[in-house]
Amino acid sequence: MMRAKLLQRTLVLMLLLSLILPASFPRLVEARSREVLNKDNLELILKGVVSLYLLNRLNSVLREEPATGHLEPGGSGVPAGPSPLAGKIIILDPGHGGSDPGAVGARGLKEKDVNLDIAKRVYRLLKENTGAQVYLTRDTDRFISLAERSSLANRLDGDIFISIHINAAENGRERGIETYAHHNAGREAWALAWYLQEQLVKELVLQNRGLKAGNFHVIRETRMDSVLLEIGFISDAAEEALLAKASTRERAAQAIFAGILAYYQNR
Ligand SMILES: [Zn+2]
Repeated sequence: MMRAKLLQRTLVLMLLLSLILPASFPRLVEARSREVLNKDNLELILKGVVSLYLLNRLNSVLREEPATGHLEPGGSGVPAGPSPLAGKIIILDPGHGGSDPGAVGARGLKEKDVNLDIAKRVYRLLKENTGAQVYLTRDTDRFISLAERSSLANRLDGDIFISIHINAAENGRERGIETYAHHNAGREAWALAWYLQEQLVKELVLQNRGLKAGNFHVIRETRMDSVLLEIGFISDAAEEALLAKASTRERAAQAIFAGILAYYQNR
């Protein structure tokens, strides 16, 4: 809509200019050199002033062109300057896939699909807004073993590894978000976990279950700062309904993106 309006305004201005400009400028110069200020020339001068004004307007209209809607480092409260993520190798790991659906909600929502969708959204945000090298352990609904995930990450020599999961509880009464790092992880991994957890809780407004130490394969076997996110409970009816929505997944992705930025900006 904005673009159509802009185009329309630009066309109208260009039409006006094409009527006024060619006639007025050469004759204006001529008029000045003869220093004659008759009625015709006065009209030409007025036309010249009007066309300069219109040119000026056209300039400012062109500058009003709306942004493309991307989050940019330097916009959205992020300090300007070169991205602190430039050149970083970031590995996103959507849990489960293919024959392994992960947890399944009462209404049939599968964890593997939510994990993949959120991961792809984070991937896009990082690709479009930072100079980071971003990888997904899977970008389709296919099965890959835990060992394949960790060895891929190690082969790529990643800086950070983020495994994306949705939680489930037998009793169906648990809710909220928790983030894991390995119990032997260094402070960098715990810091990354903290920023991601903070952003996710803030953005999704779900219960904060805090940081937890875990011994999951992907955070144990990857030789980098690795964390595992559990973004809500698919076993909770309200959270399953929430996670089924694209808007929730987008907000989760924005939160993970913001968490990664905050982690690198505060190192
Ligand atoms: Zn899982």
